[in-house]
Amino acid sequence: MRIILLGAPGAGKGTQAKRVAERLGLPHVSTGDIFRKHLKEGTELGRQAQRYIDAGELVPDDLTCAILADRVAQDDCAGGYVLDGFPRSQGQALALEKLLAAQGVGIDLVIDLVVQDEEVVDRLSARRSCPKCGAVFNTKYNPPRLDAGHCDVPDCNMELVQRADDKPETVRQRLRVYAEVTAPLVAYYRGAGVLEQIDCSGLNPDEVYERVRAIIAAKEASLTT
Ligand code: AMP
Repeated sequence: MRIILLGAPGAGKGTQAKRVAERLGLPHVSTGDIFRKHLKEGTELGRQAQRYIDAGELVPDDLTCAILADRVAQDDCAGGYVLDGFPRSQGQALALEKLLAAQGVGIDLVIDLVVQDEEVVDRLSARRSCPKCGAVFNTKYNPPRLDAGHCDVPDCNMELVQRADDKPETVRQRLRVYAEVTAPLVAYYRGAGVLEQIDCSGLNPDEVYERVRAIIAAKEASLTT
């Protein structure tokens, strides 16, 4: 199954995509994570992407589509994948469609996680992540159980950090970009008949996941009949 998690920054795409991927035994493909890996390793691609990421802008489509095409061409993606943070523009959606059409397949399901802007700013200012293992916490809603400032994944214990692009001014810019460039994809995928929306306001990650799970179960049932 090929699934897209759509939604504003901070809507919970990463958290839900990870759980969905685990449940379905599919790879979780996050273009944001791929860019952050390049930044950390100091590659040329990371250098090119950095200024866009730091400014809360989208990395240009040519660069982003190239890393996505590269990733989904890997063997583990042959049976499907869960996309998180891609596509984020009409150009990327069209590039993905072309890539899939060449393989004779398509997107099965797009789940749009709907949250209000104020909730996004509130959530992201409290988001912390582990620079070593990538675990994500929220100091308000999902704090580490053992020690507030450290990762509690067994044997990790790294000091948690705030992503530079989670600072409030950058978050507001990311929201503006989302509204202008990414939000039109909701109508695009509705038109394609693959869109499901979840109103996430006031729901915790487990409650959102329950809804996500039900949507996927219904899709699985429809694909087998
Ligand atoms: P994320 O972790 O998905 O919020 O992505 C972090 C940042 O990486 C974004 O704010 C963009 O600067 C960049 N990025 C990630 N995915 C994409 C994409 N599909 N298109 C353009 N830029 C992206």
